[in-house]
Amino acid sequence: TKITPTNLSSIDWEKQNHLVPAIVQDYQSGQVLMLGYMNVEALNQTLTTKQVTFFSRSKQRLWVKGESSGNTLNLVSASIDCDKDSLLIQAIPNGPTCHLGTISCWNDENAKPFLLGLSQLIKTRKNADSENSYTKSLFDSGVKRIAQKVGEEGVEVALAATVNDKEELINESADLLFHLMVLLESQNLSLKDTISCLQSRHKQ
Ligand code: AMP
Ligand code: ZN
Ligand code: ZN
Ligand code: ZN
Repeated sequence: TKITPTNLSSIDWEKQNHLVPAIVQDYQSGQVLMLGYMNVEALNQTLTTKQVTFFSRSKQRLWVKGESSGNTLNLVSASIDCDKDSLLIQAIPNGPTCHLGTISCWNDENAKPFLLGLSQLIKTRKNADSENSYTKSLFDSGVKRIAQKVGEEGVEVALAATVNDKEELINESADLLFHLMVLLESQNLSLKDTISCLQSRHKQ
């Protein structure tokens, strides 16, 4: 359920001794960024200012994330879970969220959404050895060749769907998505830019 300033009392504050765990997720990438705790004042301030605000258990006061570092979190939405005792905060981060300087407090390749990790791996292949890397050989072949591959894979996707071959449709759409990600990276763009575009249309 989406939380607004008018339904704060639907949260089971008593159960959590008035401090509800709040998981922060990057709205654009889906990456889990950090865990904090919110009391009703922190949540209300988060909703009204659109700046994610916690109750700091160590400082024992309201804590606007980024108040000293500048690495704030712009609220997109807040949701309460099935049994009303934890929050999911979707936000757009300004800079790294972890105080150790990483994007997420879980600084581990395996903790990333798969497509985010894949697009970052594709980017690193720009500096790889073309002998061992198909992706590097694609980058080296230039934008026209990569664009041609995207076109071919698109046609293969269309054909697979037309003949109702579901296994082929899955394989060819994987080819299409991979080559599209390589094409985007070749132009110094990423899937994140495409997702942001879809999200901005979604809001309209
Ligand atoms: P900030 O809110 O980013 O200005 O950071 C202020 C202080 O809050 C830092 O020195 C840390 O003690 C703490 N802090 C900041 N970010 C995090 C985080 N993601 N997880 C836990 N503690 C944090
Ligand atoms: Zn729960
Ligand atoms: Zn951290
Ligand atoms: Zn193909």
